[in-house]
Amino acid sequence: MRVLVIGKGGREHTIAWKLSQSEDIEKVFVTPGNDGISIENKCESLKIESIEDIINFVKNNNVDMTIVGSEEYLAKGIVDKFEESGLKIIGPNQKAAQLESSKIFAKSFMKRHNVQTASFNTFVELKNALEYSKKASYPLVIKADGLAAGKGVFICNSYEDSTQALNELMKEEKFGESGKKIVVEEFLKGFEASIFLLLDGQSYKFFNVSKDHKKLLENDQGPNTGGMGAITPHPDVDEKLMKAIFQKIINPTINGLKEEGLLYKGFLYIGLIIKKENTPNGVKDEPYVLEYNVRLGDPEAQSMLYLLKSDFVDIIKDIREERVNTANIEFYDGFSFCLVLSSKGYPFSYTKGERITIKPGITSKIFYSGVKKDGENLLTDGGRVLSLVNKADTLEEVRNIVYDEAEKVHFKSKYYRKDL
Ligand code: ATP
Repeated sequence: MRVLVIGKGGREHTIAWKLSQSEDIEKVFVTPGNDGISIENKCESLKIESIEDIINFVKNNNVDMTIVGSEEYLAKGIVDKFEESGLKIIGPNQKAAQLESSKIFAKSFMKRHNVQTASFNTFVELKNALEYSKKASYPLVIKADGLAAGKGVFICNSYEDSTQALNELMKEEKFGESGKKIVVEEFLKGFEASIFLLLDGQSYKFFNVSKDHKKLLENDQGPNTGGMGAITPHPDVDEKLMKAIFQKIINPTINGLKEEGLLYKGFLYIGLIIKKENTPNGVKDEPYVLEYNVRLGDPEAQSMLYLLKSDFVDIIKDIREERVNTANIEFYDGFSFCLVLSSKGYPFSYTKGERITIKPGITSKIFYSGVKKDGENLLTDGGRVLSLVNKADTLEEVRNIVYDEAEKVHFKSKYYRKDL
């Protein structure tokens, strides 16, 4: 089987690597990919510019299946175009991709189907948004409606903060079209969890629950990033909480998707905040949806697929052939731990082109994101440079291994969180 993966980060490297482990796989192409992925057996990165060119590549190179890792292509309707051409692809059509590409679409969907989420209002006029935020209680969360690579969310502690965020979004249009419409949302205090489901267009299967670390600095301080590390399974989600997640989040979401004809073939990632709430029977963990993403997460994919025992090609076939509810999905026991090594300065400005060296004897798997080859050397070429991933019976054990080995990878402005 020949597969094409679309995207360029650690997530796409992981998908390609996991596919390449299968005996069924002859070749995995990744576009635009990165030079680190091409080091992998059976894998090759290549840059194909437009969706039309991608379709031609698939036709001319006998690619059997395409898997979309990154959201940009989904919002542009790559799945619709593949299906028009009769080609096999994993991902939502443009209509269903709005669950991620429009926060107003997603929040309205949640409201229609009683999916527990933070209370919210939407605005298209700056004047009305300013007026509302003058009377609101703080903290308050302001979000661009459209895609903004994780940077369109502002946690505001005062009316001054809101004014600045609203001006950036709606007046200065720093995020272009994405910020012309906005969502203003209640601030929720709690811990975050990422739920992953497999959808086949008819039914679904729970995949796993992972813990991402969005904030740049230790103790969850500093700006939001694409993610600084992930743990699978989430160590703080117990059976009781999982039951509430099914009842209040997963079941109404799936019913809503079915009712509205939005159930697609692919992955659904539900980002949650778990809030502690007082009830007459004591304190209870209550799950609230922060966002839907219509693909796997990065870095959650690195830790989940590393822990996955089952053949990923079989799972992809189950998705395509509409039998995920009977799919056999097995994970190794214990935990996997993914640590992102980034360039100092990320998510703002940082240096590129630093030589990466790795001491021999590392047992963790390296998944590359922002790297490029220069002769025999591998150089940094992005904010998030690579992920180190391993697994062990206990979280403590795997954490120690990965942190030890992070010291064996060197590039000049290496930065990683020490407290995951
Ligand atoms: P992503 O990069 O995950 O795609 P996004 O831009 O789609 O991000 P969200 O996931 O909605 O945006 O928010 C990003 C982060 O902001 C969350 O992971 C969370 O840390 C914080 N956040 C968002 N909404 C809230 C809220 N209502 N209360 C508290 N924190 C929030």
